[in-house]
Amino acid sequence: MSYQALYRVWRPQRFDDIIGQETMTQTLKNAIMTHQTSHAYLFTGPRGTGKTSAAKIFAKAINCHYQQDGEPCNECETCRAITAGALNDVIEIDAASNNGVEEIRDIRDKAKYAPTQADYKIYIIDEVHMLSTGAFNALLKTLEEPPTNVVFILATTEVHKVPATIISRTQRFNFKRITAADLFKRMAYILDQKEMTYDPAALKVIAKAAEGGMRDALSILDQVLSFSDNHVTLDNALDVTGSLTEALLADYVQTIQDNAPKQALQLLQQILAEGKDVQRFVEDLIEYVRDLLLYQQAPELVAASEMDLLDEHFKALSAAMPAERLYGVIDILNETQQQLRFTNHPEIYLEVATVRLTQSQIAQVASATVATPTADNEQVAALSQQVAQLQAALQKIEVDGPVKVPAAKPKAKAAKQISKKVNRKAIYPVLAEATRANLEKLKEVWPDLLNMLDVTKRAIMKVSEPVAASESGVVVAFNYAILFERANNDQDLLRILEDGLNRLTGNPFKVVLVPHDAWPEIRQEYLQNHAVPVQHETTDQATGTPKPEQKPAVIEQAQALFGDAVVVEKD
Ligand SMILES: [Zn+2]
Repeated sequence: MSYQALYRVWRPQRFDDIIGQETMTQTLKNAIMTHQTSHAYLFTGPRGTGKTSAAKIFAKAINCHYQQDGEPCNECETCRAITAGALNDVIEIDAASNNGVEEIRDIRDKAKYAPTQADYKIYIIDEVHMLSTGAFNALLKTLEEPPTNVVFILATTEVHKVPATIISRTQRFNFKRITAADLFKRMAYILDQKEMTYDPAALKVIAKAAEGGMRDALSILDQVLSFSDNHVTLDNALDVTGSLTEALLADYVQTIQDNAPKQALQLLQQILAEGKDVQRFVEDLIEYVRDLLLYQQAPELVAASEMDLLDEHFKALSAAMPAERLYGVIDILNETQQQLRFTNHPEIYLEVATVRLTQSQIAQVASATVATPTADNEQVAALSQQVAQLQAALQKIEVDGPVKVPAAKPKAKAAKQISKKVNRKAIYPVLAEATRANLEKLKEVWPDLLNMLDVTKRAIMKVSEPVAASESGVVVAFNYAILFERANNDQDLLRILEDGLNRLTGNPFKVVLVPHDAWPEIRQEYLQNHAVPVQHETTDQATGTPKPEQKPAVIEQAQALFGDAVVVEKD
């Protein structure tokens, strides 16, 4: 006999075999025992949670003459025929493929006839949300005047796509995601029955990856078994699911707690080198950090869902990391998850996220304060202003109810502060001699330059790009202000970049950094103050007289310097 997928072989044949849906199966059994079945049911819930299995068991139980406590006997002719899919009175329709009005009209016509072999005719319509509007209308007509001895069971993963008029004519059952612990138990049971052994950690990994679906869990288990020798190993489970070991996740989170970007990036390289899936990594990480948070507040909940496999490292991290930090980590990871959807270079986003994660907010505030000696006064002034606003707002609330406090604009303010840190004295000489040809040349060697850096520095520089270049200098813009600050304060990095460019081009280069947000403003300032009629690609500063009103020349010059793409003419 050819190999049969586990989820087929181990498909539940009794209500009691359906895992994790006890309330639903008990209600269905009661209905059958007391002969109080409805003529239409709606089974909703995620895939692989037992909806169609329950539908088939229901079809057997209602027709079986030997049913006991609402369960089918699974032995009689009727039961066996239904199990084999050979009973004409039990009709399974996949709406994903049969979504036409004709099909449903067909049901309407045929449903009128009494069942031929069994007591009840059962229509099981899977993925019912896929029906066309016309088909839904036809179905509605049938449900409004239900023929006797006919039961409709509609199953769907997306109940919000089912018209309310249909839903209101059915008895609805919501199938839940199956807990990891329940999936674990079922897999362990099946392996025991097959006389196979397993590493408990392996089943835990599979249970997590299945995300609440029994069919997915058993499909993954099938794959793992295909290259295990009657023993399910953790390594195989990790390979098949692309998941990470708990220990690796703990190590990674530890680097966040330690504010250690270098170790974090090295660990990340190691994880990626092992071929782990980037999306999966971020998902696993979010779940891990969420568990840390949850454990702080309700240890017993985590213990229950994680099957008591929590280790000391997990507990230590949960005790050490403040909740605000963990929330911050989740925010950054969520953001990264969004970015990953639209990129072909997921590693880059992951590296940027890693650098951001390993900088605590305290460290960020501290470095900002050191860099701008005036920040103290400014911050105090800003705070006093906010306090005054809040007090005024409070007084207003007492008089005429809730009112919106005008929001401060921390972002604009931060951008301004950062812009102040840009070394304009170093940028202007580069701009004075900048040409597009030079910029193109630099862009060409940029990837080679990045490859010369070590892992930490490369991660920082990956969000940068050259935006202007002369024969002897280059302006490099950064996407993230925080990374600009880091790089700008890193003399070692600047020296390595300059050495590298020297080796790659044969010319000595001065590297000047700017944050991307501040770049348009700096460029504009320069052009306003140094505008000259453009005849040559290289401009002569001596002839440059400030003529802010000479706009076309400014634009022409900008195009000469930076190319068409970056020049946006503003009215
Ligand atoms: Zn039977």
